Amino acid sequence: MDTQALQALQEEDGRLRDLQRELKILLPKRRAEAKARLQAAQDAVEAAVQENLAAEREYRRYARDYDRQRERMARAERNASGQTSARALFAADKEHRDAAEASQAALAGAAEADAARSPTERKLDAARKFELEEEDAVREIFAMLDARKQQVEAEEEKVKARRDELAQAVPAGQLRYYERLRLTRWPCLSVFNRAEGVCTGCNLVQPPSVAQAVAHADKDPAGSAMVTCPACGRILI
Ligand SMILES: [Zn+2]
Repeated sequence: MDTQALQALQEEDGRLRDLQRELKILLPKRRAEAKARLQAAQDAVEAAVQENLAAEREYRRYARDYDRQRERMARAERNASGQTSARALFAADKEHRDAAEASQAALAGAAEADAARSPTERKLDAARKFELEEEDAVREIFAMLDARKQQVEAEEEKVKARRDELAQAVPAGQLRYYERLRLTRWPCLSVFNRAEGVCTGCNLVQPPSVAQAVAHADKDPAGSAMVTCPACGRILI
């Protein structure tokens, strides 16, 4: 049988499949990747915000403690000034010393927490800057993907029209078989390895009857029927 028209149709359908794969799989995948990239930058900002807030809270906690200890010292001083007994004076003095010690510890803690604050602020600034850069980059990628999508859709229309035209040149029986087969098998045409009797579509050795049918078709392309692989169903050429 003559499969020239069918081969031309399959070639065009191959182009159509590539375009459809780009539309359905590749472009959405690249869009999702760009989205994930932006999300990662946003997550980093959120993490830096939380870290910075924690450092801020830590600093305030020490600062409040320092204020409390200073008040405690003042109270102890006022208390001591009204006392006459040695025992009460001793107790007030001890309270004052304890409060002074605690206030020093709070002060040291606040200084440490304050020092830890600037790195978290710097980190937050850096994360925000990176987020802005990523927003620009991702916006550009989206614009590029949109443009490509339009291009592919326009090309798809052209290829569809072309394949419909090519289909008209294919003998009806071949076309029916091919249209059904292409839903489950691709490519639909496969070369029959005449020396080894193998269908190169499924790589299985075929019975002698298949080799005979192919040999017959080779001799009289116009007058013979279409030969298909009994194993995978592909049209043998
Ligand atoms: Zn096969």
